[in-house]
Amino acid sequence: MRVAIVGSGPAGFYTASALQAGDVPVEIDMVERLPTPWGLVRLGVAPDHPNIKAVSRAFEKIARKEGFRFFGNVEVGKDVSHDDLRRLYDAVVYTVGAQTDRRLDIPGEDLPGSWAATEFVAWYNGHPDFQDRTFDLSGERAVVVGNGNVAVDVARMLALTAEELAPTDTTDDAIAAITGSGLREIVVLGRRGPAQAAFTPPELQELGELAGADVVVDPADIELDPASAASLEEGRETARRNVEILREFAARERSDKPKSVRLRFLVSPVQILGEGRVEAVEVVRNRLVERDGALVAEATGEIEVIPASVVFRSVGYRGVPLPGLPFDERRGTIANDGGRVDGLPGVYVAGWIKRGPSGVIGTNKKDAADTVERVLEDAHAGLLSRESDESLEELLRARGVDFVEYAGWEAIDGHERARGEEQGRPRVKLATWRALLERARQLQPRG
Ligand code: NAP
Repeated sequence: MRVAIVGSGPAGFYTASALQAGDVPVEIDMVERLPTPWGLVRLGVAPDHPNIKAVSRAFEKIARKEGFRFFGNVEVGKDVSHDDLRRLYDAVVYTVGAQTDRRLDIPGEDLPGSWAATEFVAWYNGHPDFQDRTFDLSGERAVVVGNGNVAVDVARMLALTAEELAPTDTTDDAIAAITGSGLREIVVLGRRGPAQAAFTPPELQELGELAGADVVVDPADIELDPASAASLEEGRETARRNVEILREFAARERSDKPKSVRLRFLVSPVQILGEGRVEAVEVVRNRLVERDGALVAEATGEIEVIPASVVFRSVGYRGVPLPGLPFDERRGTIANDGGRVDGLPGVYVAGWIKRGPSGVIGTNKKDAADTVERVLEDAHAGLLSRESDESLEELLRARGVDFVEYAGWEAIDGHERARGEEQGRPRVKLATWRALLERARQLQPRG
């Protein structure tokens, strides 16, 4: 069986791994738009979390197994079409993640200085599509909207000291901007209460352990309404731990650290204010009301203006439609049943484009295994076939596509690690398309 996997993040590699462990001999071609694999593990996970990034070692093992090939710098929809893939493969699995950010839909959202957190994350991680961004961090206050782990990552990265950043693979430009910033306060806005926050306890706890910033929580801000208090009794361990940690933060005295990360709750941005660029965020105080069994935020009308020079909107990712595939607008996913794409035999999805942008990296292992179970079921039922035995390599060469093979990625990887070793860092990333492709070509003979 020949399978194409589109996208080389965790969902893609876990799909490959489950296929390799299956009972049908398989050849896997992984197609990736960038010259580099690993998706958000390379370009999303915060650089000061090397232990999370270490999952890439498992991906390397999967990539080195017989029958696996990597085709980087190949864009589906441009270099090859969905129809090409259907012709060449018995099955095509899309693991393309959630490529864009959710919007706030408030006035001022697009003022200069208002950024999607995902852009900032991609920039400090060396994503080659984002290196032209210039983040002006010269003001005193940044506002981060949202209460998920991405919001926590952004708040923490903004607060790291030169010593904390030095041993990471954050890009040099980002290290210079962060350590040279004028920021004194980073305010994180949660629209609901502490018991409804989406971040997880270890990530929250880290905010209390920063070398150059105090974490600040107003005790009045974390008083629980009766419904939230009752929800904690019902055994939501994550929420209970979060509330415990926040109470401990609220009891702390301020130290003489130069920065602070202030966690606010029950406030929603109503508009971003400024003449030609961000100057402040107008927020409204919320109360929690029960609707359809959930506690949702309802505006009270009580308004406050928080002066700030930069805003990071961190309210979740969203999947984008793929040409020729059915899209579920409400969920922002490819319409599917357990991984089988609706109405398209032989086409599957796994990861965020299947279930939405939730869970941690490991969540994708089970998710991908479930999809692969469907692929194997369909293979055994004789439902999978391909029209052509032409290889992707032949097709790409005929079209003059300059693809990057796994050896090309290994050349990039080896170079980055060697530069990192000289500086006591895990790697120094190549962050432009040109540098990545040049390095890949050096060890990748072209026939
Ligand atoms: P997320 O966990 O879905 O959090 C989104 C946050 O935005 C929620 O607090 C949500 O509040 C809030 N929000 C949504 N719409 C809003 C609006 N209009 N106004 C104000 N707030 C709004 O998303 P994420 O932070 O992007 O993370 C994505 C996934 O990656 C998560 O599963 C996360 O755990 C994972 N991740 C993990 C790590 C890690 O393990 N270290 C790091 C980064 C990301 P409501 O709850 O009220 O909707």
